[in-house]
Amino acid sequence: MKDQLVIIFTDLDATLLAHDDYSFEKARTGLDLCHHLQIPVIAVTSKTLDETRLWVERIGLNQCFVFENGGGIHLEDGKIIDLGVNYSVLRQVMVKLSSSFPVRGFGDMDSNEIVERTGLPIEDAKTAALRRFSEPFICPETDFGRLEKAVGIYGLQLVRGGRFFHLQTVGQSKGSAVAYLLERFKADFSRVFSIALGDSPNDFSMLSKVNCPWLVRRPEKEQTTPEIDNLKITSKIGPEGWSEAILETLNNL
Ligand SMILES: [Mg+2]
Repeated sequence: MKDQLVIIFTDLDATLLAHDDYSFEKARTGLDLCHHLQIPVIAVTSKTLDETRLWVERIGLNQCFVFENGGGIHLEDGKIIDLGVNYSVLRQVMVKLSSSFPVRGFGDMDSNEIVERTGLPIEDAKTAALRRFSEPFICPETDFGRLEKAVGIYGLQLVRGGRFFHLQTVGQSKGSAVAYLLERFKADFSRVFSIALGDSPNDFSMLSKVNCPWLVRRPEKEQTTPEIDNLKITSKIGPEGWSEAILETLNNL
């Protein structure tokens, strides 16, 4: 058994990537330090498998990553672990819901509409639409409570992301995927020190599973703050806050 593993789990949008232009330039200092110390950085995101793969390559993150809000895990050897329910089931429910609620999911949108709503380049919007375990959708905030009850009948749940609500199976979360990976790592290392960074309510389950949770500040003033032990909040926003958290944590280890 190996000695100690320090590991970082991170959300992408509005955490490692800037909310407006998806740039990670301001996270460079933190990323360079992780690279220098050979600390794995694992993306944990609501993005799809193909989208996350692109970002992992662009940023130089670990080949192990969690996609679609914990619906699936891509392991370093390329194997995929399914934790979510099949997308076709989610779409069937979405169609049923649309008769009572003004919901509109990615499956109802063409690539151009996804570009408009996300600000992603067209090629990225196409990979964002290749879903397996979750359906991002829009709906007026006022319908959220009623909708939450309605999806419960199907054994599904709603999760709030930064731009969209997400429809997925009950029990599927970033936190359950992170817990799964931590168990695997604990089998190989005598001590695992885990850090996680996120900005939105869909990150809270992940933040609650690690030794050192960081809430990364969002551009707007209002931000939901969870009650999680040892939670720290960055003073800087997005990727700049990401670097701030990484430097503070790793320099104090
Ligand atoms: Mg985010």
